Amino acid sequence: MDVRPFWLAGRPATGDAELTVTNSHDGRVVGVCSVPTPEQVEEAVAAADAVRKQAAALPLHVRAAALTHVVRRLTERAEEIARLIMEENGKPIFWARGEVGRAISTFQFAAEEARRLNGETVRLDTEAASAGRLAYVSRVPHGPVLAITPFNFPLNLVAHKVAPAIAVGAPIIVKPAPATPLSSLVLGEILAETDLPAGMFSVLPVPNDRASALVEDPRLPVVSFTGSGPVGYAIMDQVPRKHVTLELGGNAAAVVLADADLDWAASRTALFSNYQAGQSCISVQRVIVEERVSEAFLAKLIPAVEALVTGDPADEKTQVGPLVSVEAAERVESWVKEAVAAGARLLTGGTRDGATVAPTVLADVPRDTKLGCEEVFGPVMTVQTVSGVDEAFAAVNDSRYGLQAGVFTRNLDIAFRANRELEVGGVIIGDVPSYRADQMPYGGVKDSGVGREGVRSAMEDLTYEKVMVLTGL
Ligand code: NAD
Repeated sequence: MDVRPFWLAGRPATGDAELTVTNSHDGRVVGVCSVPTPEQVEEAVAAADAVRKQAAALPLHVRAAALTHVVRRLTERAEEIARLIMEENGKPIFWARGEVGRAISTFQFAAEEARRLNGETVRLDTEAASAGRLAYVSRVPHGPVLAITPFNFPLNLVAHKVAPAIAVGAPIIVKPAPATPLSSLVLGEILAETDLPAGMFSVLPVPNDRASALVEDPRLPVVSFTGSGPVGYAIMDQVPRKHVTLELGGNAAAVVLADADLDWAASRTALFSNYQAGQSCISVQRVIVEERVSEAFLAKLIPAVEALVTGDPADEKTQVGPLVSVEAAERVESWVKEAVAAGARLLTGGTRDGATVAPTVLADVPRDTKLGCEEVFGPVMTVQTVSGVDEAFAAVNDSRYGLQAGVFTRNLDIAFRANRELEVGGVIIGDVPSYRADQMPYGGVKDSGVGREGVRSAMEDLTYEKVMVLTGL
């Protein structure tokens, strides 16, 4: 099997070791990539630092042209890249195609936003003391970005860091998840076809125990991290004076109120508890349903969960594939067993075959079990019955996480109340918490992280406002 090179300052390179990538469905080796040496990591950082001023001064049409080139090439290579995502991540081909489509949109939004980096003028003569003065406000990149990305969306979560960085004129070094480096390396290949200056990007599949060199390097003032809380907060502790953005996990809740369309709520919660085999930070983990409709809702939910097609990710019909590894599936299975031993009722699922966990629903899960309070990151849903809106919203907030919440209601007053009261970064009315559009602000509160992504929000996050005051006008 060919060894894929990594991307060092815009050029393909090979290092001193190799990383083997397997498919978790059948254990097949699906790719091998080269791993950079510490000297090559140093070279990539030095190149990013050397190009920082040139990058910040890149004309907008050059940035937009590079981003548009990526849109075109991702579109041309969409099926090949979807298959690669399916192979390395294990996600069903249907969802893998969806991920490529979203990455294309992400680069498209960035190309459009790059053209709108106009700055702002603020008149200062609102005060007598500032008569004849005007402020010109522009956004300036903090500097080269270190992007650390997780395995669950190996292309689009990389796109969410790379596209805004190019749009604002910041060099970027991507450190992809070791389980899924291949799609980010294809993105590197496409970026290498652009006219971006050397040093503007590197994709370095370095092992975690070598990542500290990147995290701690003062020439990379921004760390944009998406992944688990323990790793994210350890990085923040490691470099408290850097600009660190953390997109972390959650145990997202969907509230189903009595006025909801129960067919819609059941089909959406069933699907979005299990898509990506539950390995999405906004997967439906907790369903909180109003008592007077709970029986009717469960009567629709359980068949909808049991109807999901589970199996080979290469099969066009598969909706639920394997988890990223057998170990991950074993952990999920053990959490289900722990909850059942503590008194939870298993309504469906609970079985495991290799890396695949059957879509699982439990009720009466004690709050002090792992499933009751942590992020399961697997195809498992807990159902909790509540007396009404007050109790439902209190239950959503009874979590140390706060990424997004879904509220199935048709009542606009309750929708606005949800927006006021729920302690999350996003409230989705009439749908699951798993809804994300790539142009909207996205991120968490509480232990779900700090900072926002979504193309425009990420562009703001990667830059600071700089003001120039003109005097004597
Ligand atoms: P992870 O925290 O294990 O790994 C994330 C990245 O950090 C990987 O690239 C990994 O190699 C790297 N890493 C690990 N140890 C490191 C270290 N010591 N120094 C530097 N880098 C290190 O997460 P994962 O298992 O890949 O992803 C799953 C997690 O990501 C879940 O908790 C999920 O909720 C979260 N997630 C959050 C979002 C979001 O936008 N909020 C999106 C997707 C996933």
